[in-house]
Amino acid sequence: MVNYLGHTVFRFCLEQLRKKATSKSRNCLVVGFCGWLEYMVLSILVQKVNFMYYTEFAKYGRMLWDSGLIHITSGNLSIRKGTTIYVTRTGSRLGDLSSSDIIAVNLNNTLRDKIASSETPVHREIYLAHPDVASVVHAHPPHATALSWDYTTIQPIDSDSLYIPEIPVLTDCPYGEGSACVAKHFPELLGKHTVALIRGHGAFSVGTTLEQATARLSMMENQCRLIYMRKLLEHK
Ligand SMILES: [Zn+2]
Repeated sequence: MVNYLGHTVFRFCLEQLRKKATSKSRNCLVVGFCGWLEYMVLSILVQKVNFMYYTEFAKYGRMLWDSGLIHITSGNLSIRKGTTIYVTRTGSRLGDLSSSDIIAVNLNNTLRDKIASSETPVHREIYLAHPDVASVVHAHPPHATALSWDYTTIQPIDSDSLYIPEIPVLTDCPYGEGSACVAKHFPELLGKHTVALIRGHGAFSVGTTLEQATARLSMMENQCRLIYMRKLLEHK
C-alpha cells in the first residue's frame, strides 16, 4: 500500500514535469521520488527481516505439526527481538508457513496486532513478565490437554522429570473467555516453570530460542503421554 502511494505520487510528479518543467514540479518530483525510494527500501528491509526468521519458524512449526502437537490451524510461535515481537499470523498453518505468515508487532502496545495470532496478548504478557524469555511456543498437545481436566499440577514420572519436574495447570479461564483471561493469569503461573498448561486448551512453553521452547513442549507432551498410558494400564 505504502509503495503504491509513493509510486503514484512519483508518477503524478513525473507527468507534471513533462507538461511544464517548473521549479514547483521539479520539487514535487524530488519529494515524490524520495518518498517512493524510502518506502521501497523499508519494504525490502521488512521482507528481508521476516524471511530471515521465516526459515526458523517454518522448521519448528513443521516439527509441531509432524509430532501431532497441533491441529491444522492451531498453535502459534513467536520470538522477541528488542521491542518487537515476531509472531505467526492469525489462521496460519504452522506445518506449512510462508514468509508472509510472520508478523511484526510491538512489545509495548497492540497497534500492529490486527492480523497477528489471536494469542498474541499472551505472548506479549509472558515477554513483559519474564525479560529472560526470547521465544514462546503455543500448541494443543492431546495427552497433556486430556490430563489438564483432572490436575492442577502434573508430576512427571519418567527420567525427563529432571528437566521438567512439574507442570502447572491454569484452571481459572473458561474456554469462552479466550486470551484476555489467559494473558492476565498465565505469566505468573510460569514463574520458575518453562512450560505450563491451560485446562481444556493446550500449553505454552518458553525458552531463549524457538528450538528450546519447542523441545520443552515436546518433552512435556511425552511425559503426559506416559502418565496417560500408565493410567490405562492401571485400569486393566
Ligand atoms: Zn490455543
